[in-house]
Amino acid sequence: MTVGDRESISVGSFWEASVGTIKEDRQLVGEAVFDVAVIGGGITGLSAALRLAEAGASVCVLEARRVGWGASGRNGGFCCFGGSKLSERQIIARHGLDEAKRFVSYQLEAIDTVAERIERFGMDVDRHSAGEMYLAHRPSDAAGFAEQAAFLSDTFGLGARVLSVEELEEEGISGPEFHGGLHMAHGFALNPMKYVQGLAEAVRRKGARIYAHTEVTGIARERDDWRLSTRFGGVRVSRVVMAGNGYTRESVPEWIGGRLMPVMSSVMVTRPMSGDELSAQGWTSDVMAADTRILLHYFRLMPDNRFLFGTRGGIFELPEALKAMQKRGRADFERMFPAWAHVETEHSWHGHVCLARDLSAYVGPIPDMPGVYGAMAYHGSGVAMASLSGEKVAELILGKIERKDLPAVIAKPFSKFPFPALRQLYLQGAYWWYGFKDR
Ligand SMILES: Cc1cc2nc3c(=O)[nH]c(=O)nc-3n(C[C@H](O)[C@H](O)[C@H](O)COP(=O)(O)OP(=O)(O)OC[C@H]3O[C@@H](n4cnc5c(N)ncnc54)[C@H](O)[C@@H]3O)c2cc1C
Repeated sequence: MTVGDRESISVGSFWEASVGTIKEDRQLVGEAVFDVAVIGGGITGLSAALRLAEAGASVCVLEARRVGWGASGRNGGFCCFGGSKLSERQIIARHGLDEAKRFVSYQLEAIDTVAERIERFGMDVDRHSAGEMYLAHRPSDAAGFAEQAAFLSDTFGLGARVLSVEELEEEGISGPEFHGGLHMAHGFALNPMKYVQGLAEAVRRKGARIYAHTEVTGIARERDDWRLSTRFGGVRVSRVVMAGNGYTRESVPEWIGGRLMPVMSSVMVTRPMSGDELSAQGWTSDVMAADTRILLHYFRLMPDNRFLFGTRGGIFELPEALKAMQKRGRADFERMFPAWAHVETEHSWHGHVCLARDLSAYVGPIPDMPGVYGAMAYHGSGVAMASLSGEKVAELILGKIERKDLPAVIAKPFSKFPFPALRQLYLQGAYWWYGFKDR
């Protein structure tokens, strides 16, 4: 089955079911001319298109399947910090304190961007959760929380609060594997499919064209323009935004080959639970939470009392590997929330998270391809980051900002992975090691 086939479009997510009918945009048939073409109809691509259309550019979004089909319509809905796998301390060591501060400000601006859009476009996205809770999965992690909270607050002015097991219980957060909490004041949760559909609607209203079932299969220079080939036609433009993230084709354009690493994350959502069932587990809080494992779990009680539980750690998108990842996820859920072991999973699905060798996203021009830009590799936390980074890439194109206006953490083009053909295999080795360290 090819990427443009309509039958393969549903991913079986709770989010798809929650929005009902998803608007189908037309496929591109024939030749078209625009100022800018955006490849990918996720949060990055739509955010770029929105900003460009608002500035008066003629823009098209070319999406292989339909808007929100990629990670943007499949994620856990945590609108939070993200964009890099490096800790704040590692960022300070690599880029210096000032750049670390700029990156923290960028992440805060990213969260605000999403909040502002929800407000501005009147999006109904089932928003909940004030901030995010990190839960120590072993006592030694809880012991480090006080120092971490002081560091985040003193260095970056971030609101961070440490909670004991008893204090967590008072807030309706309880489980046998939680040994303490670190609450970060920033961020909130949302229904990502409602957000991405709201974004697409705003893009359409601003006059940009979205083409669905329109995979870009090649990018070629034609005089001073670029021609993007698609299955039934093509687009001629002077500027291109690459926004395919973990679904980017390995060779489109050639430069990207060997520079991205898509890995799997999977999510399950239970049926709605009764008040008694919630009390039996001692979890009634609506706060979005994650544990302190390297291959972390992320989870939250949603407004309709369904529980969402996500896992990381899959590399190969093969039926057996995916089945094993979902089985492992369900087993982890039952171990971490034993009072809910009888509660059925109603939806489970997976999607591509995108990693890069330098462990940080990149937002900027693609080397040696004049007029081609990209924003990608949010390392599993892109709801907020993709929203702002799409906008920033548009501002680079519009000449409203320059590269130096972006934090250094996300301003270095992706390096190639060593022995790219083997990158999944050596990551598998690293994941086994992380799994061992997480015990
Ligand atoms: C299971 C899961 C859980 C996650 N949970 C969270 C979370 O809770 N919080 C958070 O912040 N982040 C989370 N993430 C990460 C987040 O979803 C992504 O970082 C973000 O959605 C990336 O958005 P994007 O628009 O860059 O890419 P995507 O949403 O992946 O969109 C890329 C699109 O490009 C299209 N495309 C690719 N190549 C082509 C081509 N050649 N031609 C045409 N179209 C093309 C694809 O079809 C796809 O629709 C999660 C990801 C997954 C998979």
